[in-house]
Amino acid sequence: MDLIIRRAVLAHAHPAGHSTVDIGIEAGRIAAVEPHLAAAAREEIDAAGALVSAPFVDAHFHMDATLSYGLPRVNASGTLLEGIALWGELKPHLTQEALVERAIQYCDWAVARGLLAIRSHVDVCDDRLLAVEALLEVKRRVAPYLDLQLVAFPQDGVLRSPGAFGNLKRAIAMGVDVVGGIPHFERTMADGAESVRLLCEFAAEKGLRVDMHCDESDDPLSRHIETLAAQTHRLGLHGRVTGSHLTSMHSMDNYYVSKLIALMRESGVAAIANPLINITLQGRSDTYPKRRGMTRVPELMAAGVTVAFGHDCVLDPWYSFGSGDMLEVAHMGLHVAQMTGIDASRACFDAVTANAATILGLEGYGVAPGCAANLVVLDARDPVEAIRLRAARLAVVSRGRVVSRQPAQRAALALEGRPQSVDFRLHR
Ligand SMILES: [Zn+2]
Repeated sequence: MDLIIRRAVLAHAHPAGHSTVDIGIEAGRIAAVEPHLAAAAREEIDAAGALVSAPFVDAHFHMDATLSYGLPRVNASGTLLEGIALWGELKPHLTQEALVERAIQYCDWAVARGLLAIRSHVDVCDDRLLAVEALLEVKRRVAPYLDLQLVAFPQDGVLRSPGAFGNLKRAIAMGVDVVGGIPHFERTMADGAESVRLLCEFAAEKGLRVDMHCDESDDPLSRHIETLAAQTHRLGLHGRVTGSHLTSMHSMDNYYVSKLIALMRESGVAAIANPLINITLQGRSDTYPKRRGMTRVPELMAAGVTVAFGHDCVLDPWYSFGSGDMLEVAHMGLHVAQMTGIDASRACFDAVTANAATILGLEGYGVAPGCAANLVVLDARDPVEAIRLRAARLAVVSRGRVVSRQPAQRAALALEGRPQSVDFRLHR
């Protein structure tokens, strides 16, 4: 074996009921998951009862905007609309070198956080397609250790922005993976519905997945998700289409939603909530009570819809926080959706791991023989404790290689003259 991780606790218990397992890795694949592996390996990690999970997956991100906070100025109001305006001011000044540099830096952060697959939207409304070229270059450069999937995203509206549909088609021809959209940003509800039809037909023709920014609004009558589900069903795109944000669902009539969720389930449309962003950008024009704005995560999950949590933004025109930590995303999602029950809390861990992997269509994701050897060792005993502690990533393995080790948090404490070992876990 190339690598063995010993005494690992899995997120979903081993079928035979063993409390810990050894994970053997060979040639970039998981070769064995057994209570005690007799084999030897060139490298071994003793997890010592820590949780070992398949890596974090971010199903919704904007890598062309990340780490641009303060360029050319900060978002003074902190609102979505000022963020979009600010992005418009920044776009003419973007250079490919700066875009690549910031994205690569973010990927370094991601790897250190055990985040090894990211679906990033990339704005195609700039005729130069600078950001598309930059992120395709980033995708090539990080491919040895991180799966970067790109969505052609017409930020200013595929119908509203002149040339956007042509640019989107060019971006797909250049190698972008997924068809994006933003129906609620078109001029009218009718234009929004037309954009969904056009984009879904294009995706069906090309055999591609679809992921639209859909109904990112507090308007209960923003119902493009209904059109997206209906077009998915009509075109036979079941299992390949995702609605991102869906915040208007928070404010919709309850009876209408009972029909809508069944329609989403029927058409196999997945949902992505972005808890950090939804809780800060939605409900901004409310006085009190202020709506939370996040979509109906537990109800969607209960109906059998695949739901993931995305990070969406880190240090960009829309959001001046974040560090690529999907446990922070899960933590916020859990609180906003009041998912504090045992099964619900675990489902929030799935929302930043397995569910997101399903939406991306990742091959060989999981901790079982034959899966890709992509793993994160967390300083926690189970998924719920990992969320509570935003647990340290003790080691990160990508394609069978250790790509990150814990940046010795405890050693840093020792340098400041504090106790070397501070244990925040509850001992039972
Ligand atoms: Zn987004």
